[in-house]
Amino acid sequence: MTSLNRPRPKPGVLDIAAYVPGKGSAPGVAKVYKLSANESPLGASPHAIEAYRAVEPQLTLYPDGQAKALREAIAETQGLNPANILCGNGSGELLSYLTQAYLAPGDEAIITEHGFLLYKVQTLAAGATPVTVRETNERVDVDAILEAVTSRTKAVFIANPNNPTGTYLPFEEVRRLHAGLPKTVLLVLDAAYSEYVRRNDYEAGVELVSANENVVMTRTFSKVHGLPGLRIGWMYAPVHVIDAVERLRGPFNLNSAAIEAGAAAIRDRAHVEKSVAYNAQWLGWLEAELTALGLRVTPSVANFLLVHFDQNDPEKSAEKADAYLTAQGYVLRRVTAYGFPNALRLTVGPEEANRGVIAALTEFLK
Ligand SMILES: *Cc1c(COP(=O)(O)O)cnc(C)c1O
Repeated sequence: MTSLNRPRPKPGVLDIAAYVPGKGSAPGVAKVYKLSANESPLGASPHAIEAYRAVEPQLTLYPDGQAKALREAIAETQGLNPANILCGNGSGELLSYLTQAYLAPGDEAIITEHGFLLYKVQTLAAGATPVTVRETNERVDVDAILEAVTSRTKAVFIANPNNPTGTYLPFEEVRRLHAGLPKTVLLVLDAAYSEYVRRNDYEAGVELVSANENVVMTRTFSKVHGLPGLRIGWMYAPVHVIDAVERLRGPFNLNSAAIEAGAAAIRDRAHVEKSVAYNAQWLGWLEAELTALGLRVTPSVANFLLVHFDQNDPEKSAEKADAYLTAQGYVLRRVTAYGFPNALRLTVGPEEANRGVIAALTEFLK
């Protein structure tokens, strides 16, 4: 049988290495701590869960195709105009719409060495060419991006803070990046972890979007809001970008439960604050403990840590550590596909898991 005699995907599709989510189980282990997907150990706001339950009578009707209740809750709590907000089935869906709307075969999208892999997948899915540029000290390098811009460049994708490094670009650097880009290049700022950042020199990107025609900020309910299962993301963008994406968008891309629970979640500021404070405490604790064990940790402002293992000791590699930890129920994320074959990404978890993973690593390194 030859592949000429059957349908073939368009160019680019078969170049895609499918996105592989963090594993969630450890075969044969009674108690499993999933520390591989940056989910919130505090879960969702009780108000969000209540709103989710209250949706049941609406399940026989189509949802509101404009997701008005959610867009208004976002607009009110963030001080934004709802006309500049569009919601997605996770922010991943919005990234896919942006690539479909702005990238064609022959176009280039710039992504970074250790950047979130979805950007590459979706650029290829649009038939365009991902151009990967180096990072410096595991952080996005603005000069490297600007040097890679060509007349074919149509978009630049950065996650700020980035996953899986946890590092961030100070806002002045983001501003410098924007200032160096042609006005026709779309700068996509993926701020999935922005709520966790407690740094004076950080901004998610609202100002830059408001003041320009070529910047988009994406956000998610999957991290600090603790609702990854409902698939809710949003973007803040100029009206002409919203208009373009509206033409591609599935008319009912958010379901009724996502709309109602999302609105309740973002209005519960106390829950967000509690989750952020919890994260700050345990992120610091984990970083100190890991460092004390002699492991290098990339400085993170998000809800996870990139932990590096000994290059020179094959018995103490990330692969061996992963197997050891998994056997004890601590499931971390391997990050080989992100250019870190000898590191693991650890999500800040419940207290018991944080203490347990450090105890297990202490044993492993003996
Ligand atoms: C988790 C994550 C997201 C969120 O994706 P959703 O589709 O909203 O669940 C987006 N960007 C990055 C970098 C992430 O790590």
